[in-house]
Amino acid sequence: MRFLPSFLSVVMLSLIQGNIMGITMENKAKTILTLDDHNHCLTQKAKAIANTLSGFAEAQEIIKDLKSALYPHMPAAGLAAPQIGILKTVFIFSWDRSPEHLEAAMNPIFYPLGIEKNSGWEGCFSVPLALAYVPRYQNIFATYTNIDNERVTYKLQGFAARVFQHECDHLQGVENIHRSDAEVKEFTTLEEMVAFIEDIKKGDAVNYIKPEFQSKKPIRKDQKK
Ligand SMILES: [Zn+2]
Repeated sequence: MRFLPSFLSVVMLSLIQGNIMGITMENKAKTILTLDDHNHCLTQKAKAIANTLSGFAEAQEIIKDLKSALYPHMPAAGLAAPQIGILKTVFIFSWDRSPEHLEAAMNPIFYPLGIEKNSGWEGCFSVPLALAYVPRYQNIFATYTNIDNERVTYKLQGFAARVFQHECDHLQGVENIHRSDAEVKEFTTLEEMVAFIEDIKKGDAVNYIKPEFQSKKPIRKDQKK
């Protein structure tokens, strides 16, 4: 997911890479897939990363690919492995869209903290020329394996919680525009969409809330190859 800023870049990306090139070149950033991907990677469930050393090594490679695909579009909120054609439960996300706070999450899960939901507009790299207005839990506990192979839990609020839930949806093969609780707004031109975004993105920054660390399990010593 990118969320609202840099919509120009996402649409350009989709047009240039997704629709016209349609292929991924070796030694280049992976193409971010759009919903017209003929392999339907965006609508399939991703498989868990094995809790083994080789599983962890595989995830490291995926994270590298995710970062190289997303960096040209920063500031951005995140990107999930199925969006680059890899059906594994890994994504990267940033609680304030900054590259400094980009975090990798392997085998993520979340628990809502309370029933409060907030609705907000979401863009997605995989969905050009449409936005989804989606209710998401305001506060969650997010648990995942991080880049240091530690199982960590953070309390996420506001924008960070929204991003995490959006990326978890990708791992289930669910696009935000396909959710039954989403209101979808389609655009016919880039200019129209950019004008809409400029109006609504102003309020986003107030929801940038730094994740609160909760717990960490040490690196497993008994992992097998
Ligand atoms: Zn997305």
